[in-house]
Amino acid sequence: MTAPALNTSHSEAIFGAAQALMPGGVSSPVRAFKSVGGQPIVFDRVKGPYAWDVDGNKYIDYIGSWGPAICGHAHPEVIAALQEAVEKGTSFGAPCALENTLAEMVIDAVPSVEMVRFVNSGTEACMAVLRLMRAYTGRDKVIKFEGCYHGHADMFLVKAGSGVATLGLPDSPGVPRSTTANTLTAPYNDLEAVKALFAENPDAISGVILEPIVGNAGFIQPEPGFLEGLRELTKENGALLVFDEVMTGFRISYGGAQAHFGVTPDLTTMGKVIGGGLPVGAYGGRADIMGMVAPAGPMYQAGTLSGNPLAMTAGIKTLELLKQPGTYDKLTATTQKLVAGIKEAAQAAGVPITTASVSAMFGFFLCEGPVRNFEEAKATDSERFGRLHRAMLERGVYLAPSAFEAGFTSLAHSDADIEATINAFRESFAAAA
Ligand SMILES: *Cc1c(COP(=O)(O)O)cnc(C)c1O
Repeated sequence: MTAPALNTSHSEAIFGAAQALMPGGVSSPVRAFKSVGGQPIVFDRVKGPYAWDVDGNKYIDYIGSWGPAICGHAHPEVIAALQEAVEKGTSFGAPCALENTLAEMVIDAVPSVEMVRFVNSGTEACMAVLRLMRAYTGRDKVIKFEGCYHGHADMFLVKAGSGVATLGLPDSPGVPRSTTANTLTAPYNDLEAVKALFAENPDAISGVILEPIVGNAGFIQPEPGFLEGLRELTKENGALLVFDEVMTGFRISYGGAQAHFGVTPDLTTMGKVIGGGLPVGAYGGRADIMGMVAPAGPMYQAGTLSGNPLAMTAGIKTLELLKQPGTYDKLTATTQKLVAGIKEAAQAAGVPITTASVSAMFGFFLCEGPVRNFEEAKATDSERFGRLHRAMLERGVYLAPSAFEAGFTSLAHSDADIEATINAFRESFAAAA
């Protein structure tokens, strides 16, 4: 079935002009659609589960600003709270009571977090947490997993998943070898590899950092025993376990993936949802470790706009909405219905697929599966994914423009939105088969 032609002339004009103004025409690489091909869409506004582009086309959105929009875009209560807050000023550069409120909410919700420090992005949170791991243990090395993304700081740009993988950059120029010399990598879901790294580097590894559910190499879940095994191995070796919950925090459950799986790390990074659409990141954990952070302790870390009242307000209101009873059951039901529909649509078109979801996060790979790590994820059919992505766009569904990204649902996605999306998948799988 052919879709009505998508008129994107205004998007083309704006993106065309942007190329001369900003590298690649964007402020963040994956937005440029390099891995799926074709014209990126320039948004005009977003509301609930929808985005409208500058040509007036409407899309059902499964990116949700890459995670923050879990209550739906521009939620009326978040907007109202922000409007009230903005009248009192956007940034104080001094303590503000709203920081206590959000800190209390995060500490109550996330099992590992006894104290928290707010920053402005997930990248900042991960940079700081690594410094803290090193400061606390007096060791320099860190273990990360292939395909996991922890922001764009030098030390983490080794086998870093989505954005980097999408562009086919194994690493990045400008990152000194000396910076990544202390970054050890292992395949996800491979405890034996982690064991071997600890054995080869006695008393040198500060800790292990991972996405407790991977969203940056496509959607990959930890196999039973993997997180528990890491918990034991880190303890045995005097190292710290750090969950990067920038994506999964308040999305997999109100207490994040650590509450969902019942494995408590020493430290946790957060971002995306806790900022409710404004720039916020956070790191937190055991009080004895957080006591190392300045000015309580010697580990320096600071931020001009950190904890500003606008960002705190959006985070507080978003968490209040998420805390209401039934929220995560609803998110789960919505996502499961979507994923079942995607699977059935692919099978009807004879397209191999493996799908999975937890709560408001989902993914699919165009292969039989299972996909347990980044190597297996990279083996899937990304050309077909590109055709599928374009076909879905033409049918009014906005998916992440990369086969290596998770999808996100929100409380605003209705049954009708899901059904329309599944219909679009049926046509698009047939068109892209
Ligand atoms: C998005 C993300 C980051 C980086 O957060 P930014 O706010 O984009 O800097 C870090 N870790 C994970 C797991 C992420 O998904």
